Amino acid sequence: MESNNTNSSLNVSSLNKVPQQLSAAIKQQQQQQQQPQKQQPQSTVKPPKVLKPLCLNGTKIDFPVAALKSFMDGPYEPFLDHLRNMFNQPTFSILSDGGDLNSRRRNASMKCKAFLEQSGIAYKDIKSEIGRLMAPAVVIGMLCDFSASVKMGVHVWLYGGSIAHLGTAKHQEFYNDSVRKFEAPGCFAMTELGHGSNIRSLETIATYNHARRSFVIQTPTASARKVFLGNSGEAQFAVVFARLLMPSHAGQQAQDHGLHGFAVRIRDTNKSLFRGVNWSDCGEKMGLNGTDNGYLWFDQFEVPYDALLDAHGSIDVNGVYTSIHKNQGKRFTAMLSALFYTRLAVSGGCVGASQAALSIAINYAFQRRQFGLPQQPEELLIHYSTHQSRLMPSLAGSVIMGVVQMYIEERWAKVSAVDQREVETLICGFKAFSTWESVNALQNARECSGGQGYLASNIIALLRIDADVMLTLEGDNTVLCQQVAKDLITDMQKKGAFGFLMNNITEEMATYFSSGDILSPEFLIYVLGYRESRLCRMAAMRLRKMAKLHGGFSAWNKCLDHLIILAKAHVERRIIEIFYQRMLANAKPEIAGILKLILTTYALYLIDRSRGFYIEHSIISKKRCKQIKNTLVRLCEDMTVNSKDIIQSFGVPKQFQNVPMLNSKF
Ligand SMILES: Cc1cc2nc3c(=O)[nH]c(=O)nc-3n(C[C@H](O)[C@H](O)[C@H](O)COP(=O)(O)OP(=O)(O)OC[C@H]3O[C@@H](n4cnc5c(N)ncnc54)[C@H](O)[C@@H]3O)c2cc1C
Repeated sequence: MESNNTNSSLNVSSLNKVPQQLSAAIKQQQQQQQQPQKQQPQSTVKPPKVLKPLCLNGTKIDFPVAALKSFMDGPYEPFLDHLRNMFNQPTFSILSDGGDLNSRRRNASMKCKAFLEQSGIAYKDIKSEIGRLMAPAVVIGMLCDFSASVKMGVHVWLYGGSIAHLGTAKHQEFYNDSVRKFEAPGCFAMTELGHGSNIRSLETIATYNHARRSFVIQTPTASARKVFLGNSGEAQFAVVFARLLMPSHAGQQAQDHGLHGFAVRIRDTNKSLFRGVNWSDCGEKMGLNGTDNGYLWFDQFEVPYDALLDAHGSIDVNGVYTSIHKNQGKRFTAMLSALFYTRLAVSGGCVGASQAALSIAINYAFQRRQFGLPQQPEELLIHYSTHQSRLMPSLAGSVIMGVVQMYIEERWAKVSAVDQREVETLICGFKAFSTWESVNALQNARECSGGQGYLASNIIALLRIDADVMLTLEGDNTVLCQQVAKDLITDMQKKGAFGFLMNNITEEMATYFSSGDILSPEFLIYVLGYRESRLCRMAAMRLRKMAKLHGGFSAWNKCLDHLIILAKAHVERRIIEIFYQRMLANAKPEIAGILKLILTTYALYLIDRSRGFYIEHSIISKKRCKQIKNTLVRLCEDMTVNSKDIIQSFGVPKQFQNVPMLNSKF
């Protein structure tokens, strides 16, 4: 298995030099160029030996589908297959004929319960079993029901995760059983009407009463009402985030210790709300209508001391507050820890949903015919180059992101203080990137399937509509990207790497950009990495310059577009790098060829998508860009020929492949 730290932040200074073996190859090429009488080699940079060559002529690569599936599923394959089989039961079938809000919610709730009862996820506690608990994220996406999976995510990861990470033994003992089952659902009450992305400014307060050893939770203003809370229509428990206030006494000022989590019972077993707790429904939404999202607000709601999830801050029997964090900022960050699980669950779910939708759309395109030559059968949709350019990069991306998802889950399961920030940055960036890519893939699958793609019974439309909110929940993508950009720039500044990367591209680099092998993963990673580092350095310089003129906040604001592009560029480089490392470390030789095809297709697609940047900065010539585009078109043809095998390796549960449009003779 590959080492974990190979893909941390980019080593900027290394970009001043092209990779060593490539440098030698370029020198050799330059010598050959000085002797024009000798015949030029096709490419000076050879792919590693393990890789079979790409076909690049539209012929099929002969590879075992089962080996590709095992590579993607990783060590949890038997468990994931068990879930796939389980999802074929009628209990998990799609509710495609709509129904009213209540019946959709009942259906999603029933699926959650069935999943937790039957999946065999008999965990003792979340913290010690993160790997096994996170592993099904992509397969849960193939359940093709975001309402049910969001309800599971809220219950297990947001509610359960908060108790696991913010609570102490007494909480875990009490709540673990309720998390394991869906009999007493939980919700996560963080967002308020006035503040969504800016959680630091939440207004709900919990005032400590020492005489009664209790807290009174209060919603002080209308804008402090909790909003959008998933599961809150049926939840018996909630983790409520509020500012912990120690009242003033003996002439002392009241003290605000900032955000803390409180695990509280909001409904009794008859589902009636307790006194002091109010709830109302968010009503019908653009999608995700099987999830019961609602408002929650409190009026002098008294809860015992033990409601405080006190792993990070507690009040002793003398009424003195202490915290394991000296710094309020660190405590605040710790309070948000549960969000990292759900960000990972969201990215995995989106990857799985994309794989399911692309499977349907590609199978349909192999059946459906439109137009063609006179007196001939009409042409299959899949033979149209626009179909190939719309579906194949998304297909390649969904394989790559599935593998990267597994890698991040493994890192997160073993995370330590040393690499925590790096992994968290990756989770934030990957959540944003993978959900944007997923919505793009689902839209492509929808459009490529024409009117049939718009029918709920064919599933793609349901996924497309429901996936939309994934760009917003668990951290809005634009806001998350800013966090990533901030970490990258801070890292660069810490390393003092400013001076290293020259604006001017050296002759050696220019030769490499113009003549490196565009089918070589090393070359593609180098090109993506160069863009990332250049964007990072330019952003840091712009920020420094503007801050002098306008102040830090305004400078950041003026650079926002640049910063978002930087964050995306970072994720693009990392996912290709991670996939390549996994491929070299874990793939059987029989699938090396298909994996290389997948990697090169997606990496060239990403480079082509940013061709404006490469041309604007004279990194890649227009001629070279055309070569990249032409190669991408040919790679998409190769992907098409192999696409049925690739989608088979996803193992999408049969009942979600068996949609009406694939069973009709048109
Ligand atoms: C269906 C659904 C389910 C949810 N479930 C839960 C739940 O169970 N529990 C819970 O606590 N919350 C939940 N949420 C809330 C969700 O986490 C928030 O909606 C999200 O954090 C964004 O907050 P907001 O809606 O207030 O948007 P805002 O923060 O107001 O953002 C609105 C827009 O402004 C932009 N923006 C904001 N700040 C900046 C900035 N600094 N720079 C540039 N642009 C900026 C954003 O990119 C976005 O486009 C849910 C939301 C939805 C829609």
